[in-house]
Order: sequence, then structure tokens, then C-alpha cells
Amino acid sequence: MATAARYSPKLFPLRQRTGTAAHHLSKRAVDFGQEDLTALSEKEAVLLLAKLRWGSDEEMPCPHCGTMDSHYWTAKELRWKCKGCGKRFSATSGSVLADHKLPVAKILKMVYSWATSSSGTPSLELRREWKVSYRAVFTLMHKLREGLLRAHNVGFLCGVQELDGMDANGRRYREKRNKPQGGGGAPKPAMPAHLLKPKVDAQTGEILGPPKPPKWDKKSRQPADRRIVLVVRQRSVSKGRGGVGTRIAVAFGETAQTVMTLAKRFISAESTIMSDEDSSYHEFSKHFAKHESVPHSKTFSLPGGISNNLAESFNARIRRLLEGVYLNVSNKYLADYAAEAAWREDVRKLSTGKRLAHLLGTVLWTGLSNWWRGYAHGEHREEELLVEGNTPAKPRGRKKGWKAKPPK
Ligand SMILES: [Zn+2]
Repeated sequence: MATAARYSPKLFPLRQRTGTAAHHLSKRAVDFGQEDLTALSEKEAVLLLAKLRWGSDEEMPCPHCGTMDSHYWTAKELRWKCKGCGKRFSATSGSVLADHKLPVAKILKMVYSWATSSSGTPSLELRREWKVSYRAVFTLMHKLREGLLRAHNVGFLCGVQELDGMDANGRRYREKRNKPQGGGGAPKPAMPAHLLKPKVDAQTGEILGPPKPPKWDKKSRQPADRRIVLVVRQRSVSKGRGGVGTRIAVAFGETAQTVMTLAKRFISAESTIMSDEDSSYHEFSKHFAKHESVPHSKTFSLPGGISNNLAESFNARIRRLLEGVYLNVSNKYLADYAAEAAWREDVRKLSTGKRLAHLLGTVLWTGLSNWWRGYAHGEHREEELLVEGNTPAKPRGRKKGWKAKPPK
């Protein structure tokens, strides 16, 4: 009897099929492959890139003056000469990929490799696969991330939006999670005296709130390099389609101020918001058409489609990306990696060819790279991009002027 009960479907409810597996196994999911890129000559690769960028390899806007025309093509240089200003430009001029050293055909192959994986591809793996320097791959992939952060992670979402925040405790986060600062044995920090006074209403003398600020105990125990990846996911209007738009931001904490800043940046006022019970979302019903929260201590969803499970599923993907693929992501570039995860989530059901087209069609429209031009010459971005405002990043590696101790 006991064995029969053990395998009862009532005790182990199967998840509803969503068609994800069927999509990935279908023919339409793979309409393009590495093979198609191998067959391309350098000229064909340049023309393909032009098509992905401008939608045409014959007529395009000049990156220098904006003249739209069928410009003079120089087959020898694989560039165009503008009919308006007479300047020359290539398929990557004025884009994040400008001033590339590698052949376009090779760049396309590497970008394709990177774009088709579901949780990212490490730079070292691409380096081994394509026999290029680590720095070349690292900067190329970061230029793509920059493009995604500046061109994909923008714009308003309207409809049903799910919000959530996720811990990202810098490097080696598992070892640090929920441990007090300064190691396992460190005592809990004492509450500062000025915070112990309860808030009192000046007119009535009524005690307004608890003496402790919200989340004090939780906050006081967090490591200094803890960050929160905040996410907004738009739910599709068609049932079973899942999330259709994802926006991210990184913050020091999940506070009323940071979640509201995120919401105002990405969500239109007529939207419905779904979140968990966290106290930082309490003001949402005043600013948006509707706010529903799920008591996560009791259940994952409530009747009427109240849940934020799509936001949680993004968390699962980025967790896998940060811990299983990229490893040791520094806080400085956390927002970039989060933007990559958001993009991967959004294109998860696009075919391979469309995914490559979507990626290049997005990142090539952002203009020159702000953060990665001159990286090889020591010009690095020094800031973390945070909701609270950009903050100088903790330096990594050896300090400038470091010298090895002379042997005794
Ligand atoms: Zn021109």
C-alpha cells in the first residue's frame, strides 16, 4: 500500500506542459548553424553584417553624416564610400564593434557561438574554440553586453508586470550568503542608539512605528559586497507564453526607493504589478493601476493568476549564469551580465538565425562603445551601474605599482 501511495500522481503533480521542449526539438528552432557561417567568405560576412545592421547591404545610412543612399562599394577594402560626405565606412563603423582587429567572418562565428547558448558561454571556452587571445574575446563579449544593456534593457513595459529582487553577493556568494560580515563567528552588530528611539508623532504624541528600521536585522548581517538584481518581467497576454519582456537593474538593497525607481523607469502607470510580500512594495498600489502580492511563506501562487513566478524563473536563469557559467562575476560588471541574462530570457524561443539577427540588430544600433574602447590601453570603466547612482567599483587585482617581494 505504501508503495502505491508513493507513486500516486496526486502526491507528485506533474507540471503542465508548456511546449518549451517541443520548440527546442522542432525543426524551426534551428534554422541557421555554424556551418552556414563557415561557408561565408570575408566579403559575404561583411555583407551579412550590413544586412543585420541596416536591414540591407545595398542602401544604408552613412554613419558619418546619416545620408541614406546606395553608397559606392569598394570591393578591395570591403567598405563603402558615402555619396554625401565622401567619407568611407565599414559595416561596423560607429557601432560597438568598431575598430575590430579580427576578421568579420570570425567575429560572426564567435558571436553566434555566444548567442546560441541558453545561459552564456565563458570567454575562456570561446578562446579555446577560436584560438584568439583572452582579452579579444572578453572585450568582444562585453561589447555585446554593453549593447544589450544600452539598447535592449530600455523602454516601457505595459500590462501585467512581475517584480522581484535576487541576492548576488559578489564573488563566491554561496559561502557568504546570510553569514554575518567578517566571518561566521562575528557577533551581530549592536543597534546604534539613535535608531532605538521610536518615531513619535509631533502633534498627538502617538508612537508611530517600531523602533527598528525595516529589515535592520537582515541588513546588518549582509556582506558589504552584497548586491540585489532587481527584475521586471512582462507577462504575455496569451496564456502559456510566459514572459515577453525583461528589464533589470542592480541595487545595493531591495528598498522601497530602489524598487520604485526601477518600476518608474520601466513600467507604465496603467500596469498591474505582481510581487512578493516584501515591505518595499507597499506603496505600489498608489502609483500603478493594481498591485497584487503573493505570500511566499505560504504559497507560490494565488487563484486568479496572482504570482511572480516568471520573475523567479529569470532569477533561476541568472543564478545559473552567475554561478554555473561565468563564475566570479565582479560587482562592477554585474549589471552587464544581468542584461545578458535578460536578453537570453527574452529570445529563448527564437530560432538560432533570428537570435543572431536580434542580437546584432540590437547592439549595432547603440553607437560606439562607451566602456570598452581603449580597454587594452588601460581605459577601464571604474563604476558599478546601480539604481542608487553609479558608484566607484572596488578595484580588483594587484594595486598599481605592486612589486613582488625580493627573495631572501
Ligand atoms: Zn556620409
